[in-house]
Amino acid sequence: MSDNIKKILLVHKNGGVANRLRNRSRNLGCDITVTHNLDDAANHIQSDKPGLIFVDTESLGEQGCSDMLRLKSRIFASQSKFVLFAQERNGYDDSIPDTTDVEWRMTTFSIDTFIHTVESYMSPDVQIRLWGVRGSTARPGKEHMLYGGNTSCVQIVLPDNDGLIVFDSGTGIHGLGNELMNSGKRIHGRIFITHSHWDHIQGFPFFKPFFSRHNNFAIHMPTQQKLQCHEVMQGLMSQNYFPTTTDNFKATMKYVTQVAYEQVYEGYTVEFMPANHARTTAMYKLRTGNKTIVYAPDNELEPIENGIIQDFRVQMRNFLSDADLLIHDGQYERSAYPSKKGWGHSAWQEAVEIAAEAGVKELILTHHDPDSTDEDLLETDKKLYQYRDYFKSLQLAREGFVHRLKKEPA
Ligand SMILES: [Zn+2]
Ligand SMILES: [Zn+2]
Repeated sequence: MSDNIKKILLVHKNGGVANRLRNRSRNLGCDITVTHNLDDAANHIQSDKPGLIFVDTESLGEQGCSDMLRLKSRIFASQSKFVLFAQERNGYDDSIPDTTDVEWRMTTFSIDTFIHTVESYMSPDVQIRLWGVRGSTARPGKEHMLYGGNTSCVQIVLPDNDGLIVFDSGTGIHGLGNELMNSGKRIHGRIFITHSHWDHIQGFPFFKPFFSRHNNFAIHMPTQQKLQCHEVMQGLMSQNYFPTTTDNFKATMKYVTQVAYEQVYEGYTVEFMPANHARTTAMYKLRTGNKTIVYAPDNELEPIENGIIQDFRVQMRNFLSDADLLIHDGQYERSAYPSKKGWGHSAWQEAVEIAAEAGVKELILTHHDPDSTDEDLLETDKKLYQYRDYFKSLQLAREGFVHRLKKEPA
């Protein structure tokens, strides 16, 4: 974290915001500068090097959004954290470079959102970084730029633990690997794979940190049709499918066939409940301090029919009852589900309902259908609004997004 984290720059066209912020931000202990002038903003970044820069693209309007490009080089040279508030496409600028230092907030700017975001940066928290949110197959292309085309990969960053924690190794893990390599640090950690379907393992051979002898990894996966974790990965990298084998990895590699009951690791525990999916598929539950995250990207929730609640649904509600955050399969619209019944995925409405029934605090819907365009997902996003009162936050997963959970003392 930057030493200048308490220096904050807000670029917002409404000058009244500065006055309204003055009272609200008193307890934050920050030095907040508000400007609507992009030249002033650029000068300020150069001279004061603020640790956090917030830009409200909607308030700047179309002209401001393109003008903001002029800020780009200053921002990235300053190594500041850069948070962009934007809503839908009119506030979204394709030409902002793809970098994990840019955090997109798919929401309109408000004083409350701003204060909440500043607080989350200032205190230790658990970060959930979404590297791949697409289901079934990778889907690059101009119609998928906003939500992303890479398949399943989620990184959990604990504030007091430098070990890597990753769920799934879909194509999204390639970008994570590159970022880790660029850091120049030795890397150690664990990758928990839910199951061996392509969209959860296809990035595995392309994770560059496996090819450095300085690194050390454990790969975890439940038994797949009697195959142990190591056998599955050897098969994936057998010569029919890939030019090198797992024997070519230079890192120290350990393969763990994961069991369902709770395992204790470095500052966190992991257990899983088997999903309703084609083979043994883990719905992983990670506990750290007093925070619980459940990751269930492939799980078919069958609709309740004639008031009969399936045993699976009851078990799953129990499993979810202590979850602060659930990241769940929401591949289809409910109207599309009947023709996809038995394919192992859920209508997002079912995920919302079971999460609300179980008292889950925050919900991220993921594993987007490869045929869902940004337009489709923006439409779904609007429909989520009707469920907002059930959750502290409810959103569609978007590649590159960083979600934060405050890690309060237990
Ligand atoms: Zn999948
Ligand atoms: Zn699957």
